[in-house]
Amino acid sequence: MLKKCSSRVDEVFFSEIKDKKVAVFIKREDALHPFISGNKFRKLKYNLRQAQKEHHDVLLTFGGAYSNHIAATAAAGKEFGFQTIGVIRGDELARKSVEELHKNPTLKFAASQGMKFHFVSRSAYRLKTEASFIQDLRTEFGSFYLVPEGGTNALAVKGCEEILTEDDSKYDVICAAMGTGGTLSGIINASKSHQKVLGFPSLKGDFLNNEVQQFVTKENWEINLDYSFGGYGKVTETLIHFINQFKKETGIPLDPIYTGKMLFGVMDLIKNDYFAEGTDILLIHTGGLQGIEGMNQLLIKKKLPIIQ
Ligand SMILES: *Cc1c(COP(=O)(O)O)cnc(C)c1O
Repeated sequence: MLKKCSSRVDEVFFSEIKDKKVAVFIKREDALHPFISGNKFRKLKYNLRQAQKEHHDVLLTFGGAYSNHIAATAAAGKEFGFQTIGVIRGDELARKSVEELHKNPTLKFAASQGMKFHFVSRSAYRLKTEASFIQDLRTEFGSFYLVPEGGTNALAVKGCEEILTEDDSKYDVICAAMGTGGTLSGIINASKSHQKVLGFPSLKGDFLNNEVQQFVTKENWEINLDYSFGGYGKVTETLIHFINQFKKETGIPLDPIYTGKMLFGVMDLIKNDYFAEGTDILLIHTGGLQGIEGMNQLLIKKKLPIIQ
């Protein structure tokens, strides 16, 4: 299952940087699998193998109600024969009818893949890494293989090391979006020392340096905190406009939570001559496109432009 595979690389031609003497390429991890999106596919691979090795038939994981990781785990469970339980943040969801719940495209999809939900309050959700909380879940659901929130652990990082291939050593700079930092860690481990790896967090805060440091020994990387757009799940009209313009010109869809912010950041850096002339830049499209529909529902409510 989930064999070693690599995704195609497209060159990016975008009007905003057409006079700049750098070349930009994008690795289409979003096209790896129709439902198990991009980096979440990478992060699950060795975890699912481990679960099989330990003879588990249930996967339990955590996430928000619009989480790419929840959608991916549900799909992977269905495809590879695991029952899945999603511990979802927000106990107000527990009081909703199935019909109401299924207005959320992520939960609707996850349910269609057979995932069972366990809704918990935001305060309980914060305790999700504590032994007593996990023990309570085991009492309630029996034995399961635990996939951490966002899917990041050492096995996930190992999976993300397969994003880069030998052929990618020709690029000077590699850029990727960050949530927990697991994906960037794998990319760093697989990079060559002559390459620079740049991470773009989709949330505020500088704790990600420490997260990455747990998984890597190389020093050829840096985290750019300038393009989180106010925090996780936050977007602005400027960002939405950028995502729509980018798709119109290149045909490449971006998600508003991760890849949209990373691409915006990279284009802004290029416009400001951050990279030396002649730099070859490889962007990792980590997927996340399932999140567009949920974000558009929110944007409509706020009377903001939507993602086309
Ligand atoms: C989860 C996710 C990320 C972040 O991955 P981490 O390993 O948590 O840093 C980036 N891009 C997309 C599309 C994601 O779904």
